Amino acid sequence: MIEARNLTKRYGDKTAVKDLSFTVGPGKVTGFLGPNGAGKSTTMRLLLGLDRPDGGNATIDGKQYHELATPLTVVGSLLEAKAVHPGRSAYNHLLCLAQSQGIGKKRVNEVLDLVGLTEVARKRAGGFSLGMGQRLGLAAALLGDPSVLILDEPVNGLDPEGILWIRTLMRKLAAEGRTVFVSSHLMNEMAVTAEHLIIIGRGRLVADCPTQEFIERGRKHTVLVRSPHADLLAEAITREGGEVTRNGDGELSVQDMTAARIGEIASAGGHVLHEVVPQRSTLEEAFMELTRESVEYTGTGGTGSTRETVAPNSRGAAR
Ligand code: ADP
Repeated sequence: MIEARNLTKRYGDKTAVKDLSFTVGPGKVTGFLGPNGAGKSTTMRLLLGLDRPDGGNATIDGKQYHELATPLTVVGSLLEAKAVHPGRSAYNHLLCLAQSQGIGKKRVNEVLDLVGLTEVARKRAGGFSLGMGQRLGLAAALLGDPSVLILDEPVNGLDPEGILWIRTLMRKLAAEGRTVFVSSHLMNEMAVTAEHLIIIGRGRLVADCPTQEFIERGRKHTVLVRSPHADLLAEAITREGGEVTRNGDGELSVQDMTAARIGEIASAGGHVLHEVVPQRSTLEEAFMELTRESVEYTGTGGTGSTRETVAPNSRGAAR
């Protein structure tokens, strides 16, 4: 279990994370989503005690990171910056880490096997491809058999095979009852990987909800209508509370009204309909729209020119 309470982090006059609170529970993959620069890495560094917050606190299984006696056995992490000695073999790298935490050699072999690096374990880590480097990073994260995993953009730069492999492994680790918290700036990737989403924009929480709920909510209610009586129909729809944009050539875009209701209005007024097509926004569009709000209206941070920008119905959804 990970808990962030009112986390705030400033770098000079730049506010990277602002009053951020969330809880990440066990048994599922939780996606930590936001555009580049949203504050994901900063938050993860705060969770892992690599940076000190200016306000609030973060705990893992009820304790702050520095209070953990053997941190690797509680939380494993994979951060973007790699800290592997290039001349050292994968095996020796893991062995050093293991010994520093009182973890035995047997576990080193187990994690090498788990991430599929057994055959190259004695080779220099400096010669590893990006994908192999990520596998090694994951092996290190898993060394202490931790109940919590914090992974920062683990699929960045990987080929489709590597992405699929990491996705499958994360799901497996979550199914074992672990807390898996993984960041990404890619909505579509998280939609297929994570069961729950915590979305931030400019260091602030913009959504905390099950992925499925976000997908449903993201469906934009625009209906495309074609009619030889477009002008009259547009007036009738507007009278009934729909928001109409006239696209010309007998085409209308209608918001805030279902296709069924538009059909009823057309029928009641005797207006001929040639087409009524509900439009769906893509997930990526829904995500960009949600986070854009927090980007557009937020100042440079710490200057007092900020505005609370929380999307409607987005906080504290069922978990
Ligand atoms: P993300 O991981 O979502 O891409 P980051 O947490 O890396 O976002 O960055 C959030 C914001 O904080 C960015 O504007 C970034 O430039 C700034 N930032 C992060 N680390 C530092 C630092 N060490 N010094 C100054 N600014 C930083």
